[in-house]
Amino acid sequence: MSPVNVRVPAKINLCLGVGPVRDDGYHPLATVYQAVDLHDEVRATVREDDAITVTVHSDVDARSEVAVVPVDDDNLAVRAARLLRDRTGVSAGVDLAIRKVIPVAGGMAGGSADAAASLVACNEAWGTGLARPALEVLAGQLGSDVPFLLHGGNAVGGGRGETVSPVLARGSYHWVFAMAHDGLSTKAVFAEFDRINAGRTVAEPAVPDPLLAALRAGDAEALGAALSNDLTEAALSLRPELEDTLSIGIEAGALGAILSGSGPTALFLASDEQHSLDIAFALTSAAGCADVVQSRGPVPGARLV
Ligand code: ATP
Repeated sequence: MSPVNVRVPAKINLCLGVGPVRDDGYHPLATVYQAVDLHDEVRATVREDDAITVTVHSDVDARSEVAVVPVDDDNLAVRAARLLRDRTGVSAGVDLAIRKVIPVAGGMAGGSADAAASLVACNEAWGTGLARPALEVLAGQLGSDVPFLLHGGNAVGGGRGETVSPVLARGSYHWVFAMAHDGLSTKAVFAEFDRINAGRTVAEPAVPDPLLAALRAGDAEALGAALSNDLTEAALSLRPELEDTLSIGIEAGALGAILSGSGPTALFLASDEQHSLDIAFALTSAAGCADVVQSRGPVPGARLV
């Protein structure tokens, strides 16, 4: 049987509002996601027996962290395949091969992206034929960011990030991403957020109106000014050196600079291709920066190739 290939983008959060911790341990989020042109690829090959296996590799030198990605049932792509199989009663297994470009533990939802890609790839490879809405239900059970990575484009995320609704947006944006040498655990950043905010009143999160207005207008300058991330203080507390990375991009004239999700990847918005090249060049001198990538967004979600 011939393999099925799926490309899946990374996500960034144009804003990330974080509310007070809920009884189930999750924080309510109010975010606007954008899918960006930095893609992992998942190849699914059906097996005759019932095993589900995964391999992970990267052609990008700066992605040596792929070595820490689990290659057992903890891999999110494997969990996605198992969930789909349990829900559809398929008996075959699958070999999953992940080609990683999205940084690991970089705040760009690489693991969730692979889960979304695995759902789409296995659904095709096994011929289970679930329609998008059914895949979205499974995606929501796998993780907060997984439904958005099926969807792609721009979207408002609510709940703990898993409820995705479309947003009126126009324009294509030029981004520069500064990847750090080591990943940052999302769990550790939320724990630091709780530690810092103990005794403070944390407001219910909301998506800022100026950000939605900037997206509706396709106004990069206004979007740059409206970028926000409530996890900044917590991530910088764990990684103070990221402050230098952000400053270098701002000095290079970025329209906006924030951390991506829980970090440590830093995002810079540029006005055009040349501007993004200038910012990328300036960032190559940042000590905390392992790799600099120019990218565009929005792009579609997980798709067969
Ligand atoms: P998020 O932005 O969703 O918080 P992240 O981008 O910071 O996540 P990921 O790259 O998704 O982080 O990885 C977080 C952890 O998940 C890794 O350290 C790894 O142990 C585990 N993991 C499981 N499956 C995968 C996968 N397919 N790719 C990457 N990491 C995975």
